[in-house]
Amino acid sequence: MDLETLTLQEQISGLRDKKFSSVELVENYISVIGNNEDLNVFVSNDFERAIAKAKKSDSSNNIQQDMPLNGIPMVHKDIFCTEGVKTSCGSKMLDNFYPPYSATVVERLEQAGSICLGKANMDEFAMGSSNETSFYGAVKNPLNKQKSPGGSSGGSAAAVAANFSSFSTGTDTGGSIRQPASFCGLVGIKPTYGRVSRYGMIAFASSLDQGGILAKNIKDTAIALQYISGYDPKDATSIKTKVPNFSEDCESDKFEHVVGLATNLINSFGDENLSKNYSKAIKRLAKLKIKTKEIELPNLELSLPVYYVIAPAECSANLSRYDGIRFGYRAENVDNLEDLYFKSRGEGFGNETKKRILIGTYCLSSGFYDAYYKKAQKIRNLISSDFVNAFKDVTSIMLPTTSGEAFDLGSITDPIEMYKQDIFTIPANLGGLPAISIPFGEKDNMPLGIQFIGNILEESSLLNISNKFQLD
Ligand code: GLN
Repeated sequence: MDLETLTLQEQISGLRDKKFSSVELVENYISVIGNNEDLNVFVSNDFERAIAKAKKSDSSNNIQQDMPLNGIPMVHKDIFCTEGVKTSCGSKMLDNFYPPYSATVVERLEQAGSICLGKANMDEFAMGSSNETSFYGAVKNPLNKQKSPGGSSGGSAAAVAANFSSFSTGTDTGGSIRQPASFCGLVGIKPTYGRVSRYGMIAFASSLDQGGILAKNIKDTAIALQYISGYDPKDATSIKTKVPNFSEDCESDKFEHVVGLATNLINSFGDENLSKNYSKAIKRLAKLKIKTKEIELPNLELSLPVYYVIAPAECSANLSRYDGIRFGYRAENVDNLEDLYFKSRGEGFGNETKKRILIGTYCLSSGFYDAYYKKAQKIRNLISSDFVNAFKDVTSIMLPTTSGEAFDLGSITDPIEMYKQDIFTIPANLGGLPAISIPFGEKDNMPLGIQFIGNILEESSLLNISNKFQLD
């Protein structure tokens, strides 16, 4: 049996039925990882501790009731603080950061019994769509090593696609779970803003950042999502509400669906392949006898400019803490305090991050605040109201995940072209809505994704429609 190809669900039952042990699972993954180091997936690994934990898990006789993921290996995006394990956020700035505490997401998965194998490479501070902004170099797409795995959670996606784990964590500020999922042929979910605690998740743009899951199929995504969701008093934006049973709900018959379609909008892009895959998805819904309704999202195209004001503005505030004194890399041979700040930030941050800090600081400066930041917030409200209106008539909205398949590493040099990657994913972040990408279609032997966006806190319905859509 190839243990590394098993799904999360199969691993849970295999461990329970003692078909294999957690140590066997962990050791097997370590050997697969060792044979594929050229993919550059990990920033750091935690193999020794993983084996020790697996031994403990095997000898604890699988107390499955309290620890449903007991003995299951997994991978965290290197944006989640892990106590005592290097957490770099893909940046030289945090290359020597060993957090004194773990993120809530990390703690919860640990409490459920899972075992972290290591920390996945990512775009620096989650800014990027290709993984090329990482201080540690780009991750390669396991399906074709010339190609990008997407970003910023590219390491997390590559880890699952390369069979280094059955699921991984990621974060999505403007598409960073869904776009890599789509590029690597996986399922990726970004839950409702506030469903998953941001405590210990290194901040990029706090009003948009949300942790989520990448996995091989919808059921596994639902299972893993369960354990990272729920109220956390340590995060002031965490929503205090019950977490439904996602894995039961994803296969339930209790959900009625009306899927919102934005056919005119998609066709307006004039991209033949994009329109073709979208109409193929519509046909699939018709074949499955799922109700649909055309909807309007008149302000969707403004999402990109709005995002590229709000996200840099928030990042410039969040990243001001890395001053070489309180946090982060400290430059040597400095003349005075000002020089220390300049050199530490100048040497510690990469180019994309610096560019965003500059744009964000500009947008927030007096004189430009009203013209850029305030205006962007107003348009953000308009985009949210478009969704509120649409959800009066539909239960989810279907959009492409990206406009195309994974591109070659190094092929996109124009920053605007790179930013356009997220035209279909950013709207859900601006509205705080849950959204999922599932594999659908392919181009030039690379997978494409289709996206469903749900109403606030409707992850169950989202998982359910995705599951129905995927069934043969
Ligand atoms: N690609 C987008 C950006 O560069 C989104 C990143 C993300 O979701 N973390 O900002």
